Amino acid sequence: MNVFDEQHEMFRQAVRSFVQKEVEPHIEAWEQAGEIPKSIWPRMGALGFLGVEYDECYGGAGSDFLSTMVLCEEMARSGCASLAMAVGVHTDMASPHLYWTGSDALKEKYLPDICSGRLLTAIAVTEPGGGSDVAAIRTRAVRDGAEFVLNGSKMFITNGVLADLYFVAARIEDPSGKGTPSDRRHRGISVFLVERTTPGFSVSRKLDKMGMRASDTAELSFQDMRVPAEHLLGQEGKGFQQVMRVFQRERLVAGLHAVAGCDRAMADTVAYVRQRHAFGGPLSEKQVIRHKLADLATLIEAGRWLTYATCLQFKDGGDPVKEISMVKLFTAEMAQRVAYDCVQLHGGYGYMREYPIERFFRDIRLMTIGGGTSEIMKDIIAKQMAL
Ligand SMILES: Cc1cc2nc3c(=O)[nH]c(=O)nc-3n(C[C@H](O)[C@H](O)[C@H](O)COP(=O)(O)OP(=O)(O)OC[C@H]3O[C@@H](n4cnc5c(N)ncnc54)[C@H](O)[C@@H]3O)c2cc1C
Repeated sequence: MNVFDEQHEMFRQAVRSFVQKEVEPHIEAWEQAGEIPKSIWPRMGALGFLGVEYDECYGGAGSDFLSTMVLCEEMARSGCASLAMAVGVHTDMASPHLYWTGSDALKEKYLPDICSGRLLTAIAVTEPGGGSDVAAIRTRAVRDGAEFVLNGSKMFITNGVLADLYFVAARIEDPSGKGTPSDRRHRGISVFLVERTTPGFSVSRKLDKMGMRASDTAELSFQDMRVPAEHLLGQEGKGFQQVMRVFQRERLVAGLHAVAGCDRAMADTVAYVRQRHAFGGPLSEKQVIRHKLADLATLIEAGRWLTYATCLQFKDGGDPVKEISMVKLFTAEMAQRVAYDCVQLHGGYGYMREYPIERFFRDIRLMTIGGGTSEIMKDIIAKQMAL
């Protein structure tokens, strides 16, 4: 069964050609530099990769979620998980806050530059004190006339060093004081669009990471940062729901990245065991190795079709929270096993920096943590099962 049509396959070829010519030759240099040059963004914008589903009036391509799926798959198959993540954050985790809940004026002002790659975006929810418990956000926003004054800090923010626009979740004290403390915890949160040049905004640290080393990750600090009141996105106090809504998309993107990244790891590993000889023949002829690869291929196929089935539900307007959480959980855990076994099948070379599988092993470790941990996915699934 093929879920993509001819248009999607043409788009796939365009992304693949870009990846082969303009990404793969530079992966190692970007890893060493610890960032992806900003010049890649206008290039991807010109190719129509940065506003796939956004209206053409804002510079988007007006296409569908299946095209987004193609983009995610080809980015992750590049072997540069850092770029896949940076693009995913810009297109599917940060900018949807503006597209879905921003005013027309804000969309007209910022979306064309987001789609063209002139402006890079980041989503700032997690804080040094915790990420899983989103309702516990401590960054404060206090209304002062036509502005909000924000104070606080954010942790582990992807694109955080290089971004131009940040979607920041902050707490406005609920003036009504009504409801239980738990209601109030969730009700107090709002999302703000913050320009990097806003006085009081600073990147306090560029973080050093195990993997995804070409993707920049930052700790941010806000000190009496004045944000225009019209930069509050959506409804005041509805930020928790807005963040959760975008998380659904983020978790599907994570699933697509995991499956396509595993496809690439498998292709590299199959090529390796075919050419590596031991005990009188290629490794690919040993039954233990053939069975291990068959197991991994079956696992990846299961992950792919759980992800596709859920993506199709999502594309048709469904809100399959349980299934999306299952996609995130299953594919993230699956990828750990694929990475472990593929390194093992490479033997000593799998431990060497010069082999892409070594980078995959480090990069993919993030999948069970970022965008909601495996434990939190299990909690959501159990809740959806009314347990
Ligand atoms: C490289 C990287 C990039 C990231 N990019 C971004 C970004 O762009 N924007 C952003 O906002 N955030 C980002 N994050 C943050 C990420 O989403 C969080 O790290 C994640 O949500 C977990 O939060 P935490 O690290 O605070 O862990 P904690 O919430 O402190 O959890 C620690 C451990 O306790 C477990 N745990 C917590 N609560 C429970 C519970 N109730 N039951 C059982 N176990 C529990 C967790 O599963 C985890 O294993 C990024 C993180 C990394 C590492």
